[in-house]
Amino acid sequence: MGELNIAPLSSWGLPDKRPLIISGPCSAESEEQVIETAQRLADKGIDVLRAGIWKPRTRPGSFEGLGKIALPWLKKAGAIIGKPIAVEVATREHVFDCLKAGVDILWIGARTTANPFSVQEIADALEGVDIPVIVKNPVNPDLQLWIGALERINRAGITKIGALHRGFSSYDKSKYRNKPMWEFPIELKRLYPNLPLFNDPSHICGNREHLASVAQKALDLDFDGLMLESHRDPDNAWSDASQQVTPEGLGEIVKGLVIRNADPNIVANRLDELRSQIDRIDNYILEILVDRMDIVEKIGEFKRDNNITILQSGRWDEIVHDRVQKGLKKGLTEDFIKDLFEAVHQESIRHQTKVMNA
Ligand code: PEP
Ligand code: MN
Repeated sequence: MGELNIAPLSSWGLPDKRPLIISGPCSAESEEQVIETAQRLADKGIDVLRAGIWKPRTRPGSFEGLGKIALPWLKKAGAIIGKPIAVEVATREHVFDCLKAGVDILWIGARTTANPFSVQEIADALEGVDIPVIVKNPVNPDLQLWIGALERINRAGITKIGALHRGFSSYDKSKYRNKPMWEFPIELKRLYPNLPLFNDPSHICGNREHLASVAQKALDLDFDGLMLESHRDPDNAWSDASQQVTPEGLGEIVKGLVIRNADPNIVANRLDELRSQIDRIDNYILEILVDRMDIVEKIGEFKRDNNITILQSGRWDEIVHDRVQKGLKKGLTEDFIKDLFEAVHQESIRHQTKVMNA
């Protein structure tokens, strides 16, 4: 695993608060729109003003952003409300234009993170520059690709790097536009505990309904900040209309967040006690699994000696139904029980395959 040389979030020149809030329109549409949105956002608890200037769109013909003429509007809006500004970059020219315009923070969008050539081009353009860069997760659920992009930017000398979780594109749309798959940012945080980590409820949700609950979930998972799209007139936004909120709506979301900032020393004792109970139960689970595998191997020997295939799909189907029914009655979710027993079953097959071919 490559090392990342990560500067602390406190060095970014932002207020010393959590969560940091980045907000502003999906796209800059006019000078008035950017300035009005910013002014209405000023007292809503935001720390950074965002706007898209270049928009990578799935299909041609959608609004692709106004380009660099919009940079001075954003700069002016930031100056009026006294907040730094953040812009998405996808090419070398975007980086140069942003640096020239005095943009404070850059971010790399999900479609760009998925392309190492583009990320490298951006990294090369940043050589010798000291600016915070936030890397969104790639559109596809590939942690290595996300880490690879962070490494490329970091190797160009950018130490003020952060990651932004915006969910993953999937065929079935379910309740989210982009599935959160929280296990990815959780694993990233396990690997790089010091990496500043942001969440983007807007692009995860694709609608307004679940923004607050996704934002809260991110805070409960110890994220450092949130990026939320806001627009003076969301219904008529030129891009991502259905997920944007008014600045006042944004203010309500921010106000409603529960900040879990208890002094860790005070809660440590009780937490330690409960965690030691969890450790004990986990050890118990491990021992039980080993016992289960011992029996699985005996069955494997029997199957081997009697020429029976490892997979008996009728029996497996019976197990899934039975365990799901029992688990549901005990308040566990169907997804969890299925995932758990699929994992157990895979491991059983591995054990029996070894026995069979010994
Ligand atoms: C955006 O932030 O407006 C954007 C294009 O996001 P993403 O790269 O996550 O799709
Ligand atoms: Mn958007």
